[in-house]
Amino acid sequence: MAAPESFDAVVLGAGEAGALLASYAVAAGHRVAMVYREPYGSTCVNVGCVPSKFLIARARVAQTMRTASRFGIGAVEPAIDLPRIVAEKQAMVSDHRSEGLESAKRAERVTLLEGPAHFVSPTEVEVGGRRLTAPKMFIATGMRPDIPPIAGLADVTYHTNENIMDLTEAPRHLIVLGGGYIGAELGQVYHRFGAEVTVISRNPRLVPEEEPETSAALAEGFAAEGLQLMLGREAERVEATTDGIRVWAGTEAFEGSHLLVATGRRPNTDELNLEAAGLVLGDGGVIPVDARMRTTVEGIWAIGDVNGEQPFTRVCQEEAKVAFADAFGDGHPGLERRSLGHAIFTDPEIGSVGLTEAQARAKGLDALAGTVGLDQVEKAELIGETRGVIKVVAERGTRRLLGLHIAGPAAADLVYDGALVLRRRGTVDEIAATIGIFPTLQEGVEGTARAVLRSLGVAGAGGSVGAHDEGGSLACPACAAGYELRPKTEAPEATAGSLACPACAAEYDITTSMPEAPIRSLDAPADSFACPSCAAELQAVVT
Ligand SMILES: Cc1cc2nc3c(=O)[nH]c(=O)nc-3n(C[C@H](O)[C@H](O)[C@H](O)COP(=O)(O)OP(=O)(O)OC[C@H]3O[C@@H](n4cnc5c(N)ncnc54)[C@H](O)[C@@H]3O)c2cc1C
Repeated sequence: MAAPESFDAVVLGAGEAGALLASYAVAAGHRVAMVYREPYGSTCVNVGCVPSKFLIARARVAQTMRTASRFGIGAVEPAIDLPRIVAEKQAMVSDHRSEGLESAKRAERVTLLEGPAHFVSPTEVEVGGRRLTAPKMFIATGMRPDIPPIAGLADVTYHTNENIMDLTEAPRHLIVLGGGYIGAELGQVYHRFGAEVTVISRNPRLVPEEEPETSAALAEGFAAEGLQLMLGREAERVEATTDGIRVWAGTEAFEGSHLLVATGRRPNTDELNLEAAGLVLGDGGVIPVDARMRTTVEGIWAIGDVNGEQPFTRVCQEEAKVAFADAFGDGHPGLERRSLGHAIFTDPEIGSVGLTEAQARAKGLDALAGTVGLDQVEKAELIGETRGVIKVVAERGTRRLLGLHIAGPAAADLVYDGALVLRRRGTVDEIAATIGIFPTLQEGVEGTARAVLRSLGVAGAGGSVGAHDEGGSLACPACAAGYELRPKTEAPEATAGSLACPACAAEYDITTSMPEAPIRSLDAPADSFACPSCAAELQAVVT
């Protein structure tokens, strides 16, 4: 075999994580070998986010036409031209893929090789008889559908996300195995394209990783729309029938024309010969990493879905940036995941950022939550979209926002408010006090945050806010951020007078009965402090 070819880095995978990492590395002047498998590009572009969201948008149009009479507009059963929709979807995917491939080919210092690749040692891989060596190796091979060991499954025709979106005729009756986000999104798409749909899941809840309230809203939406939910059922056997398939769960049998297997995803690690690299796999075959995406072997990073952390496109990209900085840059303190959210693009849509109430409790946090149904939100009523819920999770003592979870229209966009606050380690007060525009769904988020504050007995959370509370605490009248007033050993120059709220910068006079009290307790030097809402270091200006 020929001598190994040397590079500064070898990247296994040309998906969301691998391609981005390679582009950063070559831009910084490094020589990179990037290995991929056909079709070039990411799961997101080829068989994930892009095609599914394309179809979701078209399916929504069909559903709007079908249900228009609830708005006083004549409903029609739409004529769905699925061959045209699928052709347009394929054209879009193929454009995205070609753009990615062309830009990788054009890039200087990149050697592209078609895989599969496998490790020979921690610093060397083999690809189609070529050996590539580098001091820095990046594993970004993603995940693929996990096909469960259900009796008979291997003997019937079934689909996964990798091929169902190419169907040019809607199934007569689609059985979906799995109630996670892929089964939910694609199940609703084909229902809206005219299929009867039965979702079978072993979990008693649809999208069980979401908050119970948002997952219930989705289940109600599906049931109202006519999808059949067979939850808490274990599919044990599958068999072909004369015109389709039959799935057995205990003594119950479910028949359909087509089967979509969406029971989970497994990391593409089994073909990589990772033992040769000295890597030990974690549960389910993932490659465990630390916050800087380092594996247990020095010089090897694992980024994107393959590490099993948060399998979503923007997170994969963020992980690539972190690994690049750690490997080639000035280092990285580690990825903070608390503000990285995700969504399920169903109707109602689900958006989620931060901890669920159960996750917060499991971490030992004293969590409380407030929920507001969309039927309480005026905009939702105006647009006729009242199915859904907003849930705010907070820490009781500090009022820190821990999570924001929404089921309803534009939920994925709305949770960005929560991401901003979580990133700053801010409080629920910030959302409660930031006045939105009427009428918007955002007002519902604001209102839910106020409900949380009310349940904590925060003065002013419901409406008019006093300048201060009794008992040594003070709430900013503008933003309701609460501060503790404690006698200060080193009194500031001006103890009473006015206050600029560190959270919202509103200025107002303090006319309190606590003349000796400082504006707020300062642990930091008298002229600076950390904002209790966002932890930003602020300059105190005492007037
Ligand atoms: C149906 C569906 C819908 C989705 N929708 C969304 C969404 O709306 N929003 C969102 O954020 N995320 C969504 N995702 C998830 C998103 O697609 C993934 O998180 C993302 O694509 C993962 O990027 P990655 O770089 O880790 O892996 P991938 O994009 O999977 O890339 C893996 C790369 O590794 C290569 N490879 C694999 N094995 C080998 C090997 N042995 N040797 C060499 N190369 C190899 C592949 O060819 C590919 O280039 C969806 C996923 C699916 C399946």
